[in-house]
Amino acid sequence: MTKILDQHPSVVLLGRPAFDVDRALSALRQENLEWRRTPGATEAEELIEFAGRMCYLSFGDKQSPRSNSAYIHRLIAQGHESVLEHAAWTFLLRGVTRAFTHQLVRHRVGFAFSQLSQQYADQSGARFRMPRALRQSERLQSLWLKTIDESQSVYREILSELEDQLEQADPAVAKEESRSVRSAARSVLPEATEAVIVFTANARALRHFLRTRGGIVGDEEMRLVAAAVLRLVHKEAPAVFADFSIVDVDGLPLVQSSD
Ligand SMILES: Cc1cc2nc3c(=O)[nH]c(=O)nc-3n(C[C@H](O)[C@H](O)[C@H](O)COP(=O)(O)OP(=O)(O)OC[C@H]3O[C@@H](n4cnc5c(N)ncnc54)[C@H](O)[C@@H]3O)c2cc1C
Repeated sequence: MTKILDQHPSVVLLGRPAFDVDRALSALRQENLEWRRTPGATEAEELIEFAGRMCYLSFGDKQSPRSNSAYIHRLIAQGHESVLEHAAWTFLLRGVTRAFTHQLVRHRVGFAFSQLSQQYADQSGARFRMPRALRQSERLQSLWLKTIDESQSVYREILSELEDQLEQADPAVAKEESRSVRSAARSVLPEATEAVIVFTANARALRHFLRTRGGIVGDEEMRLVAAAVLRLVHKEAPAVFADFSIVDVDGLPLVQSSD
């Protein structure tokens, strides 16, 4: 029986910036500098502010009365965004498709990716995501389900037949032969196959991703993932993502940017 994903993609925050404020303050004291910090700023926000202030040693007497959030907004407004790269977050994505991850990994700058390998992991029990547009037509839904089901059956057949032959193979080459067999089998899997991916992105790269990808009305998965990521980083570093918001359009979230 083909397994269909009926939940929204899952986005789990796995890693966040850690800022050792005691060491930062101690380093400043060695230079006879003092930092007037903003109460309530998050570690990510303080790390960014500290890095920005280091550029001009704007601590103590040289420090403007700006709050952490005003300081970060000014960095962004001035285009001094390399400072944002010090803060990065790691996410686990499940329930997305290979089509989606193919788009995600096009983001080359400030991102790192680790995706479940279809050459290694058996996809006989893989799940599939049905695009929302198909829900309007029962006929297309059943055609889609039939095609997905057939693809997965052929996948299992290729694997079963070619892996039987592998059992007689020289163990020294078995690993590469198995890779070759799974590559052959996966060639019939559709783009709707579920992918699992861990990605890390810094704040500057995430802002670029949210701006370019989060607001494309016809891209359901991007919208869902971008909105879920934004909800998480809004809590992690509200000052960095204050110019992004989420609206509801057609029952799905859409990320908007005010710039
Ligand atoms: C609506 C839409 C439609 C798309 N359609 C297609 C499509 O049909 N076919 C397709 O192949 N892709 C398509 N893409 C993907 C798109 O071309 C980008 O590959 C993807 O969005 C990643 O964006 P990026 O290159 O800005 O990101 P990153 O690779 O993360 O780069 C970030 C920024 O760094 C700078 N940069 C990065 N690399 C270089 C470089 N080599 N030289 C100079 N500056 C650089 C640029 O300013 C860039 O914006 C589409 C994207 C969108 C949003």
